[in-house]
Amino acid sequence: CGIVAIIGSTPVAPLIVDALKRLEYRGYDSAGVATIDHGRLDRRRAEGKLINLENRLKDEPLAGLIGIGHTRWATHGVPNETNAHPHFGKDVAVVHNGIIENFAELRDELKADGYDFVSQTDTEVVAHLVSRELDRGASPEKAAHNTLKRLQGAFALAIIFRGDENLIIGARSGPPLAVGHGEGEMYLGSDAIALSPFTSAVTYLEDGDWAVVRRDGMKIFDMDGNPVERRMQKSIGTA
Ligand code: GLU
Repeated sequence: CGIVAIIGSTPVAPLIVDALKRLEYRGYDSAGVATIDHGRLDRRRAEGKLINLENRLKDEPLAGLIGIGHTRWATHGVPNETNAHPHFGKDVAVVHNGIIENFAELRDELKADGYDFVSQTDTEVVAHLVSRELDRGASPEKAAHNTLKRLQGAFALAIIFRGDENLIIGARSGPPLAVGHGEGEMYLGSDAIALSPFTSAVTYLEDGDWAVVRRDGMKIFDMDGNPVERRMQKSIGTA
């Protein structure tokens, strides 16, 4: 239901949780955050309110300057920790708002190819589709693009890759997603309010856009893989 992703210059897990609090108004039933720290991809998730996730993080903090976070409003699979996002494939983590309409067909295909599923969500197919592309030798960007071409339905996505601590891929086909521009930091969020503690400079993705976000900037592409220009705006949100 709510997405936040950060490439930062200080540990991002607490920043992500704070930003997720600004998306609480949308409603949610569980939450989670994943970071990459020196080649280690790890996550904490919790059913219920963000305070539960904060307590999990207090007991077992997550280091790392890159991460993604999510507040989930379950559509496929009960609200529990296993179904909470981020979802993992091999070397990849995904958060998702919306519904992947063709998930059952994709799940059957991926299972037949040897990819094991652990959740009841529609979202998990995205993680394994990206993994399969990486296994076939695709770059992270290509893996994400090829995956997006397979998805039907309404989604906003943020994806990180264990092998690249300077890359977040965001995609939008329905629910809103904005890129936030910082000083040596970059952000993704479901809306500008979530990013307002960090930056007021945001670029909204349009339907069918996907963004390659790195510390020093970002590029936006359409579904054919062609670069597109989207205007940066100043949000009026206050920190
Ligand atoms: N369909 C996904 C799920 O049930 C995402 C729901 C959401 O937008 O939070 O896990």
